[in-house]
Amino acid sequence: MPSPRRFLAGLQTVRVWVALGVLAPLGMLLVSGLMLSELRREMWARADDTSRNLLRVIETDIVRNVEIMDLALQGMVAKLENPLVAAAPEGLRQLILFDHVVTAEGMGILVQFDEHGTGILNSRYPSGLGGSFSDRDYFQVHRRNPDAGLYISKPYESRMSGAYTVAFSRRVTKPDGSFGGVVVATLRLSHFARMLSKIGLGPDSSINLVRRDGIRIVRFPYDVRDVGTDVAGASNFQRVLQERSGRFVDYAERDGVQRLFTFTEVGDLPLILSIGLSTDEIEAGWRAKALMIGLTLLALFGLAVLLALLCGRELRRREAVEAELARLSVTDGLTGLPNRRRFDAALQQALGAARGDRPLALLIVDADHFKRFNDRYGHAVGDEILRGLARCLAAAIHRPHDLVCRIGGEEFAVILPDTDEEGAARVAERLHAEAATVAVASAGIPAGALTVSIGLANTTSGGSQAEFYRAADAALYAAKSAGRNRTCRAETRPATPHLRLVAGADVVGTVSAP
Ligand code: GH3
Ligand code: MG
Ligand code: MG
Repeated sequence: MPSPRRFLAGLQTVRVWVALGVLAPLGMLLVSGLMLSELRREMWARADDTSRNLLRVIETDIVRNVEIMDLALQGMVAKLENPLVAAAPEGLRQLILFDHVVTAEGMGILVQFDEHGTGILNSRYPSGLGGSFSDRDYFQVHRRNPDAGLYISKPYESRMSGAYTVAFSRRVTKPDGSFGGVVVATLRLSHFARMLSKIGLGPDSSINLVRRDGIRIVRFPYDVRDVGTDVAGASNFQRVLQERSGRFVDYAERDGVQRLFTFTEVGDLPLILSIGLSTDEIEAGWRAKALMIGLTLLALFGLAVLLALLCGRELRRREAVEAELARLSVTDGLTGLPNRRRFDAALQQALGAARGDRPLALLIVDADHFKRFNDRYGHAVGDEILRGLARCLAAAIHRPHDLVCRIGGEEFAVILPDTDEEGAARVAERLHAEAATVAVASAGIPAGALTVSIGLANTTSGGSQAEFYRAADAALYAAKSAGRNRTCRAETRPATPHLRLVAGADVVGTVSAP
């Protein structure tokens, strides 16, 4: 189980930062999406409420108006059955029979038709005008059916006023029970149109008043072409007829507009009232908001993601630069070998791992009389020789944990973990041989011109790094003193290594320095 601090440190990678930079705005986008969908739900709930309230108000209005007219009609029928009224002169009969509430301007008229369909008494026009009305559906229905009660006619164009009208009628029965004509209260469709126009629905929303048999009385927005059309076959109407009251969303067959239809039967009347709110109009406000918020959020999201990616790229670049700097800080610029700093760290680590069964050897390699090469051939050639020597030393080392470093001007060190003194001496031999191959043809320096002296120290118990190094350095000094081009060994003990100088193990050949 990692400690919290290590866990947090582990999280601080470029990938995690970039992921957070993308995930955070993504979360914002998600929350905003949820809020917008909630807003949309609220819009629909509000539209639903509006439809239902409107429906109730209009239904109440229609029921009340029809009730008033029916009361007037029932009153007329009752009065007409009174022989005194029947015998009264026409002017008096008009006063007795006609209810002025029903015949107010803009509403309609009250008419009494005799059994032949001739208007014998009229609240507005002279009696007998317009000829016989026996072709009207209300007349035929009452003549045919004594129990028709209150009948609501198909809408028609009035012969008297030319206005589109719907008639509410009741049968008059003679004392002998035979058909005695009808009394009619008419209502201009413009009355509905006026009432509905005050509601302020959008142009794509609609209100329909339809008889149960599918004959449309009026539709708002008012269009005379809708008056009296038969919608019985429309699937929406069938549904309305079946469910009696409720709501659904569907496309209108009349104009293909999708609407939220809310509908109800109108009281006990054979009428159905429906309100269709255009879904486009319901969502118009929401869509504008959603579009604005959505676009803004998308832009912000894009920006945040872009910034996260740019930051990620910069962090990656920085990491790469830091890694390169770290590499350079432990690399020698001239030879590309690990430098002194790396050597110190590596030696420290190797000493820590050294034990009886894991001996550690260190070789310090120094070019002999190198100054002379510089003096004779120049510094650039000297550099070239150093590079060649570095390549050769590296080539002489085969095991993965062995490490060749350049620790000074013409001084190199080789750390050999798990290597005893004899093994190290063999490696030193190889180094002498490799150094002898260094040549710079362009400067006329042949192979064999360069020799090295090597100080060898080894330990089986770690100990002080400084002392271990000093032992190898002293061995190198001994090799120099003994004539160069050789290896001297230092005998080391666990805590205080002391030197046992050994004569040059392998004299590759005496080279006369330039
Ligand atoms: P010795 O056999 O005693 O080691 O003699 P030496 O001349 O090699 O040793 P000394 O310490 O007297 O001189 C080392 C020379 O190495 C001095 C300098 O000119 C040369 N040197 C050190 N670093 C560089 C380098 O980076 N490039 C070149 N071209 N020469 C270097
Ligand atoms: Mg030297
Ligand atoms: Mg030196």
